[in-house]
Formats: sequence, C-alpha cells, structure tokens
Amino acid sequence: MNQTENQQPTVADLQRSFIYHLHHTLVKDKFSATKSDLYLALAYAVRDLLADRWLETQQSYYKNDAKRVYYISMEFLMGRTLGNALINLGVMEEWDTALKELGLTIEELQESEWDAGLGNGGLGRLAACFLDSLATMQLPAYGYGIRYEYGMFYQKIVDNGQHEVPDNWLRYQNPWEFDRQEHLHPIRYGGRVVDYTDRDGSLRHSWVDYYEVMALAYDVPIPGYRNSTVNTLRLWSAKASRDFDLNFFNQGNYVGSVESKMKTENISKVLYPADHMLEGKELRLRQEYFLSSATVQDIFYRFAKKFDDLKKLPDQVAIQLNDTHPVLSIPELLRILMDEKKLTWDEAWAITVNTFAYTNHTILQEALETWPVPMLGALLPRHLQIIFEINRRFLDEVAVRFPDDPQRLQRMSIIDERGDKLVRMAHLAIVASHSINGVSALHSTILKEDLFRDFYELWPERFNNKTNGITQRRWLRHCNPWLSDLISEAIGDRWTVDLDELQKLRPLAEDSEFRKRWMAIKRMNKERLARYIYQRNCVDVSPDMLFDCQTKRIHEYKRQLLNILQVIARYNRLKEYPGLELPPRTVIFAGKAAPSYTMAKLIIKLINHVGMVVNNDPAVHQQLKVLFLANYSVSLAERIFPAADLSEQISTAGTEASGTGNMKYALNGALTIGTLDGANIEIMEEVGEENIFIFGLTTPQAVTLRAAGYRPHDYYYRLPELKQVLDQISSGYFSPGNPGLFRPLVDNLLSTDYYLLLADFDAYLDAQADVDRLYMIPDEWARKSILNTAGMGKFSSDRTIGEYARDIWQIKPQPVVRGEARHW
Ligand SMILES: *Cc1c(COP(=O)(O)O)cnc(C)c1O
Repeated sequence: MNQTENQQPTVADLQRSFIYHLHHTLVKDKFSATKSDLYLALAYAVRDLLADRWLETQQSYYKNDAKRVYYISMEFLMGRTLGNALINLGVMEEWDTALKELGLTIEELQESEWDAGLGNGGLGRLAACFLDSLATMQLPAYGYGIRYEYGMFYQKIVDNGQHEVPDNWLRYQNPWEFDRQEHLHPIRYGGRVVDYTDRDGSLRHSWVDYYEVMALAYDVPIPGYRNSTVNTLRLWSAKASRDFDLNFFNQGNYVGSVESKMKTENISKVLYPADHMLEGKELRLRQEYFLSSATVQDIFYRFAKKFDDLKKLPDQVAIQLNDTHPVLSIPELLRILMDEKKLTWDEAWAITVNTFAYTNHTILQEALETWPVPMLGALLPRHLQIIFEINRRFLDEVAVRFPDDPQRLQRMSIIDERGDKLVRMAHLAIVASHSINGVSALHSTILKEDLFRDFYELWPERFNNKTNGITQRRWLRHCNPWLSDLISEAIGDRWTVDLDELQKLRPLAEDSEFRKRWMAIKRMNKERLARYIYQRNCVDVSPDMLFDCQTKRIHEYKRQLLNILQVIARYNRLKEYPGLELPPRTVIFAGKAAPSYTMAKLIIKLINHVGMVVNNDPAVHQQLKVLFLANYSVSLAERIFPAADLSEQISTAGTEASGTGNMKYALNGALTIGTLDGANIEIMEEVGEENIFIFGLTTPQAVTLRAAGYRPHDYYYRLPELKQVLDQISSGYFSPGNPGLFRPLVDNLLSTDYYLLLADFDAYLDAQADVDRLYMIPDEWARKSILNTAGMGKFSSDRTIGEYARDIWQIKPQPVVRGEARHW
C-alpha cells in the first residue's frame, strides 16, 4: 500500500492536476480555454480522484463474492455530476480554494455542465437517488439502463407554448462515461422458433433466422458519500453487429449495409418523452428488450466468472425491476436457463421467481403497459412462447385455488383477451416475482385492495410497501449550501448520512435568533432565483413575495389547471377589492408536457397567457406574478427548491403514487399545500397536521363521488367565483386574439372533469386563504418552515434503500478498505 495515496490531495496537487488536464487532455491554455474547457479540465481532474476507489470497489465485490443487486431502469435522471462528485469525495473546499487562486469559481464552471437527462421525471430521478444511497450505504449494486443519444427534450417556450428541441447531450465530451468495448452482447430480434427433441428425449426450442444488434457498455462511476465506494451505472448503446454488415458487403450492397446499420443503431437513439402514458410504438418495445437482454447476459457473465451451479443464482443476484419497462428480463432469463443452459422448466422457474422483484409506479390505466400479442410475437417469438407457457401454468394454479371462477381467470390472465390480444406486462411481473411493492403507504394499499386485488388474494406475502425517498446529499447539501451550513452548525453534520438527525432542529424552531437566520437564508435563495427569473423571463419579482411553486411534469392528474384557476380567482379578487390585504405572491410553474399530450400543452399555454395578463396589469401591481420557467430539469429544480415558500402537491387523491418533489420542497423548508395523496399523507404524519395545509377529497371520497355520478356543472352554478373564472377562460379573456383557444379545457371540466378539479376548488381556495393568513405572521411561518425540515428524516432514500436491502434483496454492506484489496 502506498502511503501517500490515501492522503487527501493538497490545493497545490489539485491545481497541478487541473492545469495538466487543461494542457494535455484538452490541449488548451488560459488564453485559449473556453468556459467549457475549464469545466472539462476540472471534471477530468475530479474523475482522477474516483479512479482508484472505483477499481478497488469492484475488486472487493469480486474477491468477497458479494451478493449484488441489479437495479434495471429505462430511465436515470442524473442531472449534473460535478458538484455531487465534489461533495461526495469531500474535496469541495480544497477545489474552491484551488480554483479561486486561479481566478475561477466552481459555481461558474459547473454551469457549463449539461444535465444527463436520461429520464422523464419522478421515476428516473428515483433511480438516480437510489444509486447515490446504494453507494453511500456501501451496498454492492449496479444500475443498468440505456445510453440514449438524445435524452429528455429541451423545452423552449415559443409563442407562449411548449416547443421541443432535441437534447444532443453528447455533442461535447462526456468526461463521466467510459466505453467498455469488451463488454459487448448480441441482442436478437425476429425470426422463428424450431422445436426439436434432444438426445435425452426432451423437447427443446431453438430460435433461428433472427437478426442481431450489439449492445455496447458505457460505465458511469457512482461515488458514495465520504467513503471509498464507487459503484457502476452501466448504460447500453446499440451498435450494428459486424456479422450483419459482412453479409451485406458480401452481396455487394454497400449502401444497404450502411442503411441497415443506421436502422439498428436507432434502438438507443432517443428516450420516449411520455410520462405516465404508453405510446405503444414497436421501437419502444425493442428498447425494452435491448436493455433486458443485454443486462441479463451481463449478469450471467459476471456470475459465471465465479460460479457454475445456476441454482445459486438467487444467492448471488437480486434484480429489481423499476416499473414494468424492463420486464422482458423475466422471459429472457428463462430462455437462457432453458434453451442455452438446458435446465428444466421447474428449475428455471424457481431461480427466476427467487431472483426478480417488481416495483409498481402507477395505477393510471393509460400508463399500464400492454403490448399486442402479434407485435411481441413477431419481434420475440421465443419470448412470446415462454410467456404463454408461464400463463398456462399460472392459470392452472389459479383454477385449483379458486375453482369455478372463470371471471377471475380472465381478470388475472397475463393475456388480455377481451379484444385484440394484449400482453399485460404488470401481470407478467407479478407472476414471476417474489416481491411486488408500491411506493407509498396509500399506493401500496391501493395495489392490494384495488388494482392487484386478485393477486393479493393469491399471494399476500409477496406484496409490500417501500415509500420513496430522496438523497439529502443532492437535495439539501448540494443544492442549498447556505441552509446546509446553518443546519450543520446547529446540530452537526451527521444528517448527511442519517437524516433522522434533523429532528434535533425541532427545539430551534422556538429560538427567534435561529428563525431569523433560517429566513435570511430563504431570502438569499429567493434573491438568487429572482435574478434567474429576471434573466430568463424578464419579469421582476421581489424576494418579499411568497414564492408559490408547482414544478413537475404537466399532467391532468397533477392538476396544474386547478392551480391556475385559483390564481385567476385571486387576480379577480385583487381587481375587485383593491385594498385587499393579501401577502404578495409569485406563482411559479415549471414542467414538460409529453409532445403528443394536447391537453397538457394547452395548460402550459394557458399559464403563460394568464401570466401575460396578470404580470402586465398595473391594477394588481406588485401583488401577484405568474411565471412559467422553461425546461424543468434536475439543474433547474436545484435552483427552485431552496427558494420555495410554498409547495403545491395537489393531485386528485388516489392518483399520485408517491411523489418525490413534495419531499425535496419540504426538506428545503417549504410548507406544503396538498391533498391526501401519495407520500403527502406520510409527510403530514411526520411534520404534524398543524404544519401542513391539507385540503380536498380523500381517495374513498373521490371513488364514491365518481360512482354516484359526479356532476361538475353543479359546482359551476353553485360557486360564483368558479363560474367567473371558467367563463373568462372560455370567452377569451386571456386570449383576446383567439377567444376559443382555451375552450377545450373548460368544456372538459364542465362535461367530464375526471380529476375532480371543480369538486376540490372551494376547499383549495380555503386552504390558500389559510396560507395567506399564516404568511402574514413571519415568525409563525418560520417556525413551521423549520419544523417541516426537521420532520423529513423518514424521506431519505437511504431509509428506502435500507428497507429494500433488508426485506427484498437480502444484501449486506461490503465496505471498501482502501489499499486492502489493491492489485494493479
Ligand atoms: C423530483 C423531480 C421530479 C418528480 O417530481 P414530482 O413532483 O414528484 O412529480 C420530476 N422532475 C425532476 C427534474 C425532479 O427533480
């Protein structure tokens, strides 16, 4: 072991490394370097600090035969890496000094880093938070995903509406990825299945006439917080197979071979930008199999280096499916075990069920994945055969448990046969997993009692809850350094690895000096956001105003429209009663709509139109501002959360599986106005009912109301303010040049209103009035703000991952001792 290697680098070491990379990796000097070059030089220097830890972590897992968990996800919404790496490595201050001496600042350089936006929203960000917790808790884990060439689109606001621009995130160098040319797996599509009898007389199946695409690995380092663990996120990129190309060359079809090469490489070209909505495109199914097959092959390869008894697989491997997107991993594992490793069905099945676990993320019908049987059969004929066989055996089992109940068989079948035949991916996941979990207490209850009730009756022991969490390293320590420093000064810094420590802030809520400092930091964060808003939106907002934020994907169930209805009602009140004593508010929206989601795009447009009218009306002067911040992403979120006073979490009860934005806001001291939905309920339990603004229907009330024949019109006639708002929107008050523009939104509310906006409108206004009253008493607001942060211990993703590791994966920490497992 080399003594000097374990010492933290000095400021001079860091400067040398930075300049070395500027000169030798980028071949630039201080005169020719752009901002981006300076960022890259810093990134390469920081990357060097990860290298030894990364190698040693992998050596230690290998040497100790650690059981690994594989987290398979179509999305990883990582955001920027640099700032997080500096914090986790514990070298932020040293780098700060080193760069200042060179006349540079980290804050400025990190703005040059482009977000890694390989995800839509909550589901992908959860995967990213989990990776941080897994590494911090020293758990032997790998993330597996797709290296999309184009991540989540970049959102511009043009003519008040959303305009999508491709996210060409790899245009510049990506210093955080390493291509691993040797980790290459063939992925097969198409062809047909030939049955034959082998020498032992068993019926076997062979997949023939398929074509191949290669999956090439790119590795991304995932450093733990202040430990020596660096885990791996492995992302697959599609490459045309060489055999495939040669065939074409032999036929002399040069251009044809290049065309087909391009077609196959399309598989990893772009992330599908629909959140909570199934697009049903064949390319998406190809992507899902591409990820599933490459990952399962990689898992076999790693297992086979140490073991040959496949029955040991579940002792060495746990696979977590992040929603049903990677569920083809199940028939893929069975196919390899049976067709390639020649195991029997029963042997292969036992291994599979003991290896897989499935997380459900939504109960929205339009988001539940189903694939047409003919499409799946044409793309993956052997897998369809395996799925049919799983289903046949499964339905036999159900028929024995519940005799004479054909309805139940139909409901539970993996194949939906009511119309054109569809494969129900969630049913496949449930039947082949030993654990099925929801992501909040309410959501897990709905799974058991409603969506998957039949399955719960069959296998109650498989169902469990794992309430989501967020990593406090990124969502407090990194994004809110001022508040982090105040907290650490008051209670020490153990909260960074044990968020329950925040409870120690509770008594400080009663300390007026502490409250003053707490709110002074909130104000500085608001000033910072106000400057950003001025630069981007050219609207002047005062940090004295209440910053009221709703930032998340735009979706009808999340009810941004209910928020804007309330804003219009407020505007009308201010106009009608000019002396009205209301605290001034800035209402901030941000979020992307799926490009094909017409209603969601119209809601974005309405928000911007309302902003135009309100922000330019001298009658409401500095009392109300409405803003839409373009391109909601991890880096924009990191600016908004620390500056928020109020967090809007107003989904219809029973629709938001958990939410994690709600946790990030409360952790940064925002108060929540919200419904009894998802994790809001658990946030209320933790921070206390008196420290949160809860309103609206409960889940059972929403169900009952719909069942009783909900009539939105009744509310329209009963509530004069609501009628005024809806009439204004539909008559073109906010779109004088195009009066009918927003009529579809109102028509929808008055006819169907599936998400019960009108039913909750009155209660929402009352809750907003409570918010206004409290904000007028700054000391009381400050108290509750502190108590919100203090109550957030439960919502660390460290707690969530601890529960997965203990209850589902049965994996243990494998601490990495630097220098111990060291080989060249
Ligand atoms: C946390 C987060 C989300 C999820 O927000 P919800 O309010 O839970 O829907 C989405 N996008 C980004 C960029 C996030 O950071």
